[in-house]
Amino acid sequence: MPRVAFIGLGRMGHGMAGRYLDAGFAVTVWNRSKAKAEDLIARGARWATSPADAAIDTDAVVTMVADDEASRAVWLGEDGAATTMKAGTLAIECSTVSHRHALDMSRELDSRGLIYIDSPVTGLPDAAASGNLTLLVGADAADLEKARPFLEPIGATIRHFGAVGTGTVYKLINNLMGAIQIAGIAEGLAIAEQAGLDMKLVLQSIETGVIASPQVIRHSKRMAARNFADATFTATLRHKDAAYAVALAESLLADKPLMSRAAVESYARAKAIAPDDDEAKIIELVSRAKRE
Ligand code: NAP
Repeated sequence: MPRVAFIGLGRMGHGMAGRYLDAGFAVTVWNRSKAKAEDLIARGARWATSPADAAIDTDAVVTMVADDEASRAVWLGEDGAATTMKAGTLAIECSTVSHRHALDMSRELDSRGLIYIDSPVTGLPDAAASGNLTLLVGADAADLEKARPFLEPIGATIRHFGAVGTGTVYKLINNLMGAIQIAGIAEGLAIAEQAGLDMKLVLQSIETGVIASPQVIRHSKRMAARNFADATFTATLRHKDAAYAVALAESLLADKPLMSRAAVESYARAKAIAPDDDEAKIIELVSRAKRE
């Protein structure tokens, strides 16, 4: 029976860990707050007292935590997974981290004889729980083959972009383009509302026009209805991803990345007001009427 240690049981990680149980793996779980693990433990997962404890005698460690800081803590902290992983064990980073961080982790973990691959994901929490994520992999081809049995339970599609770090490059540009679109939808809808347009007609026109994308359609409906009930992605996470994308852009492009910076600024404002609320709530920020 393959053994996996899963670290980080938030909106995404909880469902992903459950997929390994469904697939018959021996699963050990750790999360900073234990409450999120209770039902997984009831389903047969072993609770670990730390990432280091989770990683003892496992074939692969998979992480799905918030950001660089959290990733560093769970891999390399005092009780980090890397302190107990045996040489040759897979270290699979599914968290969205910065490109610099993915390269640093790869260097650090490889120097300990571990196999680090970056495999950030696209898909919402429901896709995570049903094994329908798209995995964006950066890894040597041979390492990807070793990791494949641990990727298949969580991803319906595996896209291999190249060496370590390349999956993260794609994830960051994907989310940057998303951030710009979502901030743009909020401003467009806000203008339409204040100008008194029939919003039903506006939504119909968006849905059938050339700017329609799955993301534009989903968010425009939710924003117009001010329906943020199914919070899936927070303003804090969107801001983090945009900030990581700006750092990447600045390391590669001669020109100032204006759109990326605008996205960071927009989500910094949203995060300051409601850090844990859905990113689409940005409409509430931008839709206030101008006072004469
Ligand atoms: P979330 O619900 O906020 O969960 C964040 C996870 O990180 C929790 O397990 C949290 O532990 C842990 N964490 C945060 N800081 C930590 C620290 N300093 N040390 C240890 N653990 C820490 O976020 P999520 O939506 O699941 O997102 C997880 C990752 O997936 C992020 O990198 C995000 O960008 C990416 N992602 C999210 C989505 C989405 O739709 N939500 C889609 C694709 C990718 P606690 O439970 O104790 O707080």
